[in-house]
Amino acid sequence: MKCEIIAVGSELLTPYRQDTNSLYLTEKLNEIGVAVAFKTIVGDKRRDLVNAVKTALGRADLVAVMGGLGPTEDDLSREAVAEALGVSVRRDNNIVVELAARFAQRRMQMTDNNLKQADVIDGAVVLPNANGTAPGLWLDTKYGNHRKLVMLVPGPPGECKPLFAGQCIPRLKEILPPRYIAKRVLKATMIGESAADTLLAPIYMKYPDVETTILAGNCEIQLQLFCTKPSLDAAQARVDELASRMEEALDLHLFSSTGETLEQIVLFYLELKRETLAVAESCTGGLLAQRVTSISGSSRSFLGGAVVYSNELKTDFCGVPPALIEEHGAVSPDVAEAMARGIRQRTGASMGVGITGIAGPNGGTEEKPVGLVYIAVSYGSKTESLECNFRGDRERIRQWASQQALDMVRRRLM
Ligand code: AMP
Ligand code: MG
Repeated sequence: MKCEIIAVGSELLTPYRQDTNSLYLTEKLNEIGVAVAFKTIVGDKRRDLVNAVKTALGRADLVAVMGGLGPTEDDLSREAVAEALGVSVRRDNNIVVELAARFAQRRMQMTDNNLKQADVIDGAVVLPNANGTAPGLWLDTKYGNHRKLVMLVPGPPGECKPLFAGQCIPRLKEILPPRYIAKRVLKATMIGESAADTLLAPIYMKYPDVETTILAGNCEIQLQLFCTKPSLDAAQARVDELASRMEEALDLHLFSSTGETLEQIVLFYLELKRETLAVAESCTGGLLAQRVTSISGSSRSFLGGAVVYSNELKTDFCGVPPALIEEHGAVSPDVAEAMARGIRQRTGASMGVGITGIAGPNGGTEEKPVGLVYIAVSYGSKTESLECNFRGDRERIRQWASQQALDMVRRRLM
């Protein structure tokens, strides 16, 4: 069954307001196995609205229209849907009485324009709105020779969401065959989107019944697996099987197969292995510490760290010998390693991280360009460093440096 959501409101076509309701509707529809094929946003113009509804009726089985049910001149959804379906609208006396009672209860004068909220499209079931004046409408109708389900729900999120979840979804469930959904989110890092897809496409192509989405962003790749079946066990089995094949292919790049963040995973391993972490940060300026401490409970494994921006503080706080900085420069593997060892020694942590690099946009040279970052991890008897060349602006370089450092910690712990 194909669904189209139409968000009605000229304000949704400005830079100031967004259609957020449709995200909620999509989530609820997905839960019962309905995929959203189209979303349309249309302003409060009758002709545009009629066109949008006709287009939707031509390409979707289920059309959810939200917004434009209020009392004002520009609320035209009922009229537009009726016109698109070629049916008329009548005033429902029961709703008029309810509206009047609602206003009387609040000791407010009901203006005449409120009456149009009592208009009902011929053949529609009225969906009472417990949180506002405009009721919703439900139509199980025909367009041409095809059965169409059309629902109209009010725009304000506090009315739209409970009405849709409480009245539209149960009605849809009665009509639709039972469907169950299984979902999984896998996360990988330090692998590009195209590289991940090259690796994974041959695998997920063999599972056409599992919808696989690859999302890249925030220095990670998210793989969303989604499967609907007549039984939950069947859906779960397919998703799990695909997930485990993907996990195998992603190997060490995979850091989570149940949706956790990289910070959570790192802290999980630190705690599991009863290790403690301290960090010495130069170009990331505390970003790594910030990310780790954003997780509640991080104090069990994270001791702290130092932002050692100047050469003097690298020496004072991490014991980096001035001669080492003199010889190799502050941005060098030797200094990153000395920082990792030094902060470990200074704090008594069992693992130390050192980050030093050039975040730009200034300060780069031919030999040491912007984006050059050295990251070192000192753990057990070994201190290892990695040379990275990140691209992008200052923020992006700092973000990637903190990501790479977290990932190195994770890999050392695994
Ligand atoms: P309406 O039902 O068109 O009178 O909408 C009333 C108010 O609900 C609008 O001013 C918006 O603030 C809000 N609204 C309408 N549609 C949406 C939507 N799709 N997403 C989020 N808010 C909405
Ligand atoms: Mg509106």
